[in-house]
Amino acid sequence: MQLKSINSGGRGKSSCFPALFRKNMICDGLVALGVYGDAFLYRRADVQSDDGTYKDWLILVDGGGSGERLRKQLNLHAAGVQYLDIVVCTHGDSDHSGGLGTFLDRWGHRPRKGANPRGAVGEFWLPGRWVGVVKALLEDPRSVFEGLMVEMDDLRQRNPDWRNLDATKIEELISEQVKKAEIGDKNVYDGDEFVMPEEVDLRKLAADRRKGTISSKNSREKVFSLKESGSIGEGFGEYWISLIDTVDEIRLIAHQALRHGSRVRWFDFEEFSIRRVAVGGINRLLKPINAVESAPMPPRIALYAMLQLTRINEQSLVFYAPETDRNSAVLFCGDSPLGLDVNYSVPFPMIEVPHRDILVTAPHHGSSSNDIAYRHLLSWKRDERMILVRSGGERLHPDGEFQFFLPPERACTNCRRAPNNFPPTAIGFIQLKSSCGSWCQLNPKRVCNCV
Ligand SMILES: [Zn+2]
Ligand SMILES: [Zn+2]
Repeated sequence: MQLKSINSGGRGKSSCFPALFRKNMICDGLVALGVYGDAFLYRRADVQSDDGTYKDWLILVDGGGSGERLRKQLNLHAAGVQYLDIVVCTHGDSDHSGGLGTFLDRWGHRPRKGANPRGAVGEFWLPGRWVGVVKALLEDPRSVFEGLMVEMDDLRQRNPDWRNLDATKIEELISEQVKKAEIGDKNVYDGDEFVMPEEVDLRKLAADRRKGTISSKNSREKVFSLKESGSIGEGFGEYWISLIDTVDEIRLIAHQALRHGSRVRWFDFEEFSIRRVAVGGINRLLKPINAVESAPMPPRIALYAMLQLTRINEQSLVFYAPETDRNSAVLFCGDSPLGLDVNYSVPFPMIEVPHRDILVTAPHHGSSSNDIAYRHLLSWKRDERMILVRSGGERLHPDGEFQFFLPPERACTNCRRAPNNFPPTAIGFIQLKSSCGSWCQLNPKRVCNCV
């Protein structure tokens, strides 16, 4: 296949993918955007709906770390696109969710003066675990940030031996405590399902947003001064700030969805981990692998209500765009280990094993800390090609089992051996209906040289 304006560089102003997102293009395509973190723009053409009609879909999975960078990448690689059918956030880690909280205000078409804002995103698909904090953040953001401060303060006083631990270790210890608290308090909550408000008072929403911004800023300042005075260790401070950032990103995403009138759907990992069956999504388009779609309850536990938002990869959502007679498959892995139980050794049940090429976003940016995910992928693989697309900001991430996949069965936006200061570069794939569903890389000169 020949596309004239293919180039292999990342600094030029022209896109490598001139036609991919043009209307009436009868092909599927995926672009790993050149962001720091994960952001995948996916076009799925000709999808049969339950009512028998056919429709093209445009989906963004995660938004990288910065709204501004995401906006630029969308303008560059999807020029002319003004509407995304679905925006998925796999989890609250800032290199996935950080770009999603503000990009719509920058990228979306501006409403006419006096008119109601028109959503440039049809639906946000968000982690079900966020529901309790979204409810609280919309009603009273200040109490959420203050609650988080009280919980963390309590933890540091009860665990003086955590003082010299690093942030990752502290996160592990806290998530263990949260798990124990959950098991002890199961079914205590007896409240209502949470539904995002349909009618919003935009002026009140803007005022609440400002209040939230002030509260989050105050919280960060308090943590910095505790760190400066030596009351808390470096690692504890770092973890505390990351939690504030996560809550803040959730707040911005929720506000944005409301402001632009987008629908929100929730995907709950916890319910899946109990039932072990994934439910929901849209048939023949995108289905969860490790979540149950529901209108979830607010959190069942009062204790550690905010600490449930630990950003551990375990809870990262995984979605699958299945193989059909018109579309080849894509698996969006986020940072998930792709398994459950001790050391995540039991792989998630896959909906099906595809017969043709499958594109897979590299779990946890290719990091060896998620090696188990790569072993699960290999256990699902049959004779068809499994092409890994790695995206991410960390040059040191591509490691371990990721390297067992050799080019052309892997591609990468930010290679380990790229020249210094070279920014992440978008990588595109196209699935031509005429070529038995094979995925082919649009900028094949960019060979992943991560070793
Ligand atoms: Zn990540
Ligand atoms: Zn690479």
